[in-house]
Amino acid sequence: LSVSELVDESFKRIKEVDSQLNAFITLDEEGARAKAEELDNLSNTDETGLLFGLPVGIKDNISTRGVKTTCASKILANFVPVYNATVVDKLNEAQAVMVGKMNMDEFAMGSSNENSAFRAVRNPWNTDHVPGGSSGGSAASVAAGEVYFALGSDTGGSIRQPAAFCGVVGLKPTYGRVSRFGLVAYASSLDQIGPITKNVEDAAYVLQVIAGYDQHDSTSANVDVPDYPSALTGDVSGLKIAVPKEYIGEGIHPEVREKVLEALKVLESLGATWEEVSLPHSDYVIPAYYIIASSEASSNLARYDGVRYGVRADQADNLLEMYKETRSQGFGAEVKRRIMLGTYSLSSGYYDAYYKKAQQVRTLIKQDFEQLFEKYDVIIGPTTPTTAWKIGEKIDDPLTMYVEDILTCPVNLAGVPAISVPCGFDQKGLPVGLQIIGKAFDEATILRVAHAYE
Ligand code: GLN
Repeated sequence: LSVSELVDESFKRIKEVDSQLNAFITLDEEGARAKAEELDNLSNTDETGLLFGLPVGIKDNISTRGVKTTCASKILANFVPVYNATVVDKLNEAQAVMVGKMNMDEFAMGSSNENSAFRAVRNPWNTDHVPGGSSGGSAASVAAGEVYFALGSDTGGSIRQPAAFCGVVGLKPTYGRVSRFGLVAYASSLDQIGPITKNVEDAAYVLQVIAGYDQHDSTSANVDVPDYPSALTGDVSGLKIAVPKEYIGEGIHPEVREKVLEALKVLESLGATWEEVSLPHSDYVIPAYYIIASSEASSNLARYDGVRYGVRADQADNLLEMYKETRSQGFGAEVKRRIMLGTYSLSSGYYDAYYKKAQQVRTLIKQDFEQLFEKYDVIIGPTTPTTAWKIGEKIDDPLTMYVEDILTCPVNLAGVPAISVPCGFDQKGLPVGLQIIGKAFDEATILRVAHAYE
């Protein structure tokens, strides 16, 4: 099979299903075909890339030179970056072929993909349901076979939750493991780029390619990158698993709990052991996360002023009017809500009560994880409290959407890695995700456990 044929297959599938799924914002057919031809003309000895010829979809908040990068926002609807994100350069070096940019919640804010300024993405398993978010386009496209794998970003669950809802594998690396250079910032202290793939082995290969220190990102960690594919030994004997009671108790749908307990049985049969433990600050995860994420977002999104990037409102008489009009017209409702929440938490007189308090709570949450990892190798639970809900079901009440992130946000607050791997279906036929959380920089272990289970 030639690369051009692989790429043909990908576009054929996209033309078949994407009018129902809306997983793509931009297709780069011309670029992909040119790249495929270039790869097909290489001599065999130059076909050395770890991801040679594989069609990939890139979330639309990851910068791609010469290809629109909109963040699913009207304010960046025409923005064409002049440089590649480091991860995009790395995929190029590994000889993957980008076929297009994936739909998402605007600026990665959301859990259902209904916050895209362009159109909502639909779940390939049942198009009346959401695919999850914010990397919903990435997860839906992998699940539907439009691309071989995709990149997403995860600030509070945006890789793992859509992966769980769409029945695919999603990995959020340790904070600092993968360069954020060229990732449009939402909440800089939480954001990480990671792979969404059909299986765990593919996730190991993609992580191998994108991980590593980058001098362009001051928060990127100078920590050795192990050989991930060779970590997939199938051996989990002696593995010590912690299962927080907060992750299988009240608020978790019984069908989800049942699938997770079944998965634990499988791991037990492979020689692992598990114990019920507690993450005592779990109740404070959602308020702490939404204060910190919104605060950082309000600061990061100040740069969209109609001058430096993207769209500018044209009927303004003076500079202030222009800022106001551009931002009023350019940002969607959820983004405005976060900017207001964040600006409020950071303003003098409220800073100590909200932002500072949230940072203190973040430290306690991080310590909860550190304590468990003194005794256990991994923490396991569901990725989400429920399976994919119906489109429209939660869009009018932001808080009911926020609380759905209860199992994914703590991982970002603690900075540790986690993977979501499919563990069956509910009675409606919608996928359930198993979340395996690891120690900082120990992606190898969560990949090994996910692979042994899979
Ligand atoms: N749903 C969460 C939010 O809206 C997480 C999003 C993300 O991880 N980018 O902030």
